[in-house]
Amino acid sequence: MAPNKQTLVCSMCGNVDCASTPVVKVFDGLNLCTDCIGFIDEARDTQLKMRNASKKSGASKKKNSIPKPKEIHEFLNQYIIGQEEAKKYLSVAVYNHYKRINEEKGGDDDVDIEKSNIILVGPTGTGKTLLAKTIARLLDVPFTIVDATVLTEAGYVGEDIESLLTRLLQACDYDVERAQKGIVFIDEIDKIARKSDNPSITRDVSGEGVQQGLLKLLEGSTVLVPPNGGRKHPEQKLIPVDTKDILFICGGAFDGIERKIASRLNTQVVGFGHDGKEMKKQRENLMKYVMPQDLKSFGLIPEIIGRLPVLTSLEPLDKEALLRILTEPKNAITRQYKKLFALDGVKLEFDESALNLIADKAIEYKLGARGLRSIVETIMVDAMYEMPSNPDKKFVVDADYVKRQLEKAHFEKTKIEE
Ligand code: ADP
Repeated sequence: MAPNKQTLVCSMCGNVDCASTPVVKVFDGLNLCTDCIGFIDEARDTQLKMRNASKKSGASKKKNSIPKPKEIHEFLNQYIIGQEEAKKYLSVAVYNHYKRINEEKGGDDDVDIEKSNIILVGPTGTGKTLLAKTIARLLDVPFTIVDATVLTEAGYVGEDIESLLTRLLQACDYDVERAQKGIVFIDEIDKIARKSDNPSITRDVSGEGVQQGLLKLLEGSTVLVPPNGGRKHPEQKLIPVDTKDILFICGGAFDGIERKIASRLNTQVVGFGHDGKEMKKQRENLMKYVMPQDLKSFGLIPEIIGRLPVLTSLEPLDKEALLRILTEPKNAITRQYKKLFALDGVKLEFDESALNLIADKAIEYKLGARGLRSIVETIMVDAMYEMPSNPDKKFVVDADYVKRQLEKAHFEKTKIEE
């Protein structure tokens, strides 16, 4: 039967309006039967599900792309000798930090994971900067090292606190988006400690005022950064940077903090004589017992300490560690020289006596790991000069050679007297 004028026909399947499959007019020119409406609903649901699934898999891919703490630790092992505790703390903190950033906003719980900035305490030249730098390299995020000593309170001579972020912006060609997920290593944080226990005696331009200023950056807020650093001036165009996802790693030697730790431990370790074995052991390596209250006694304000919740220490490097640093890391100084010589077709070798003497000299001259490079550079100058034109294709560095070269360069002048 041909449909009469009033009978509606489904525009999709041609079904004629009837009791079992009613056809409705959607708008002029489009009529749909209930079967087709159901089909369209189903198709839309499937499409939504697929879209959500692909979003989720994208997110989990993103999450998976953050190396796990153990992987971070393994990567650090390739470049940094020892400092196992610091590596562990750092791996976990960095993993959590980037997991937090990648976590999709607007989840159905109200739990806000707070940022875990890090503070590394340990003698100079033990690997604090190297740790931060190596992590940034692994994660491929913008990284900068800034020195806390250049900062002074706003209105005084020195650099404004916000200029810390100028270098981070420069490190990624002013890509604000990337900078906002970068890592800033603030060196010599101990140098902005309050000089006196009484905060109100005099104006403490480089101490508490700077710490107060730094708080703003550490806790996460939008700050206006001068594009070329230095001090802000009124005509300058400032770049707003949100510091909420920037990871701050602070480092400091905190010279003398052992005394604060010792006095805290003394009051706690009741019953041990001063000559007792236990006390002796503690004195030998007190740094590893560092607690937030020791940083407070040293002169950091509690608010800053609260914003640096991950606190870990680095150990002084002994001879064994220095020997390993000379040869083991992926870019160990002796490996670098071997490569340089190999480019000229020369096989370079350091014999054990030479390595021992280099490590001894670094200790004797109180240069630590940083000194290894200057010693090796000093002893290699002549060989670097001669070998490219020398027919010999092998060069062995032994203890005698090291001794001669150091004497020739008057290296003993670098000795730091007590
Ligand atoms: P700081 O603790 O003062 O920040 P750095 O990380 O700048 O010390 O170390 C100075 C140099 O000494 C590094 O570039 C590296 O060559 C060497 N170094 C220091 N500590 C270590 C370590 N634990 N493992 C390997 N190299 C180290």
